[in-house]
Amino acid sequence: MYSDTIAAISTAVGEGGIAIIRVSGPDSIKEVENIFKSKIRLSEAASHTVHYGHIIDPRTKENLEEVLVTVMRAPRSFTTEDVVEISAHGGVISVKRVMDILLQQQVRLAEPGEFTKRAFLNGRIDLSQAEAVIDLIRSKSDRAFSVALKQVEGTLSRKIKDLRHTLVETLAHIEVNIDYPEHDVESLTADFIKDKSRLVMDEIDKLLKTAEEGKILREGITTAIVGRPNVGKSSLLNTLAHDNKAIVTDIPGTTRDVIEEFVTINNIPLKLLDTAGIRETMDVVEQIGVERSKHAVNEADLILLVLNASEPLHPDELELMEQIRGRQCIVIMNKMDLPTQLDMEILHRYYPPELIVPMSVIAQEGIDKLEEAISNLFFSGRIEGGDLTYVSNVRHIALLKKAKASLEDAYEAAEQLIPIDMIQIDVRLAWEQLGEILGEAVGDSLIDQIFSQFCLGK
Ligand code: GDP
Ligand code: ZN
Repeated sequence: MYSDTIAAISTAVGEGGIAIIRVSGPDSIKEVENIFKSKIRLSEAASHTVHYGHIIDPRTKENLEEVLVTVMRAPRSFTTEDVVEISAHGGVISVKRVMDILLQQQVRLAEPGEFTKRAFLNGRIDLSQAEAVIDLIRSKSDRAFSVALKQVEGTLSRKIKDLRHTLVETLAHIEVNIDYPEHDVESLTADFIKDKSRLVMDEIDKLLKTAEEGKILREGITTAIVGRPNVGKSSLLNTLAHDNKAIVTDIPGTTRDVIEEFVTINNIPLKLLDTAGIRETMDVVEQIGVERSKHAVNEADLILLVLNASEPLHPDELELMEQIRGRQCIVIMNKMDLPTQLDMEILHRYYPPELIVPMSVIAQEGIDKLEEAISNLFFSGRIEGGDLTYVSNVRHIALLKKAKASLEDAYEAAEQLIPIDMIQIDVRLAWEQLGEILGEAVGDSLIDQIFSQFCLGK
């Protein structure tokens, strides 16, 4: 337990909304009582009760701000310490006044992430939950937010705990048989180890797969902009990138000879790929570009097919439409500012009207319709793969991969009937690596590194 009391503004200070100052530590109730005038003495207030009153200057007794104060007594609070939350109505100025008075008491300003760090060190949450809180704070879209929220609820932790339990059982089994080293027992044990390692490896694979899906949320939905040369692909990419502030991702993108831009459209993160123009070609250099764009198309979660409405459909375009049949696709009829020559009847054979968007990038028309079509696809669940993910954290992914590699070693060794006590080491290692996801057996420096990523007041 910590001996000092910390405070920070814990909700975004915005235009007019209520801001909350969170105070945590052994003296939090006493220190807030010093500056709070109300019908009730805070030190006598029951846990989880809310009190109306005013923050006062303790020297002049002057009323400063009208507030609601919530008392949460240890250990039933986020940090497991006594916590007081002060909700102030006004914006920045009113919150700052309360904070100034508070910091004149025996209370110090919390470091970024310090509340969550205390929750972790006091055993209230495990490390994967703490990291999920970081993701929560940083999540760039509502969708990513709900994934982070699930993780806070401990889905990943539960999964990992189950797997570790299986490994502990395996270790126990090995232990028993090391004590009774008979020959046939040894080969039975090897089979047992193989079974259990396989089981855990399969589960890790499932988690890693959800990590790939989670990547969608971090990196954006991979969106390929395809079409013949000169239809306006690059212009569209530039317009979308200009209108929608690019999101920053901390996962380095793979280098490809395709232009990538990150944008968010109605809170949906997209990774836009401008492909080199798909068509059959004899030119070798061009062919490399074509191969790459085919790859981009195959990889894409969403395809934006750009057509030039001022020209009839080209055979290449028909072929392309055949190629991408069944994929999530929005057709953009660009250059609508020019007289149209596009055969709508053919288009309608391939796509329902809501997926065909007339547009003029040059005249900046139809962009909103495109954005609407993208969000409709996303929120109807048609461009997002399956379950919401368990794993979305780079460190977790690395540890899962390490644990899996250790189990592969154990499996191999068991197959070759290598002495059991050698195999034990690998199983143990896997158990530790999974444990690191939960924050067990992590060094101080790692903990500091993780918590320093927080915003102030969390
Ligand atoms: P890309 O080869 O598919 O990437 O096409 P670009 O974006 O480079 O555009 C090719 C040409 O079409 C450029 O000269 C653009 O200015 C022009 N262009 C793009 N969008 C429109 C549009 O909506 N209307 C008209 N009239 N021209 C456009
Ligand atoms: Zn281009």
